[in-house]
Amino acid sequence: MSKNYCEKFRIPKHLEVPMGAVIPAPVKEQPAMKTGNWRTERPVIDHEKCTLCLNCFVFCPDACWHLDEKGERMVWNPIYCKGCLICVEECPADALRSENEMNFKGGVARLDKPY
Ligand code: SF4
Ligand code: SF4
Repeated sequence: MSKNYCEKFRIPKHLEVPMGAVIPAPVKEQPAMKTGNWRTERPVIDHEKCTLCLNCFVFCPDACWHLDEKGERMVWNPIYCKGCLICVEECPADALRSENEMNFKGGVARLDKPY
């Protein structure tokens, strides 16, 4: 690419956009960002079918799936799961299904003070 070509597209000083700040991702649960009480449906896992592919971990927008300490089972976080069911869609092993909150004794819809 010639120098002239580059100069042609040089952004004028007054239109330059300053470098953005880098905001580190939250590394732990954020008490001010609880989204579990939005949920009307929840993902339910069948551990027999789960292959530990980690797709649910990757696709969950709220980081609600993680491996247990032994690395043998996926663990779900009900405090932050908003019930979007993306994980159910993305599970290649058909190990996740959706169930209504009303089907659970401690379901969000039944709590006096949800989280
Ligand atoms: S339903 Fe949505 S928020 Fe809940 S675990 Fe699945 S992907 Fe995450
Ligand atoms: S996406 Fe499905 S198979 Fe993969 S780890 Fe999650 S529940 Fe298991």
